[in-house]
Amino acid sequence: MSEDIQLQMFKCQRCGKCLINCPVLAVTEWDSFSPRARVILSLAKELGHFGETKRFLQIIFSCTTCRICENVCPAGVKVVDIILHTREQIVKELSKK
Ligand code: SF4
Ligand code: SF4
Repeated sequence: MSEDIQLQMFKCQRCGKCLINCPVLAVTEWDSFSPRARVILSLAKELGHFGETKRFLQIIFSCTTCRICENVCPAGVKVVDIILHTREQIVKELSKK
């Protein structure tokens, strides 16, 4: 994991301000489909806490990459960069199977 992406994951303060305007969360109404959850789950994956469940893949790949969450994040977390990194790791791992 690059140091920059790792830093971004740890910068998240779990404040929830990014939950307000995420279009995917608005449709699903599940907190697990929020920007915050995608950051937390990405970090958990990086630390090896779990593998690719169907639900995890839905959460990570349903992000539209609109960056609305980044515009309201007080900590300046690059949420989309984190999600794209996680997607890249998933594709790499699945392509080896
Ligand atoms: S607004 Fe930023 S710091 Fe707050 S939970 Fe969302 S990503 Fe984390
Ligand atoms: S970039 Fe993804 S997580 Fe952020 S608001 Fe858009 S859909 Fe939601």
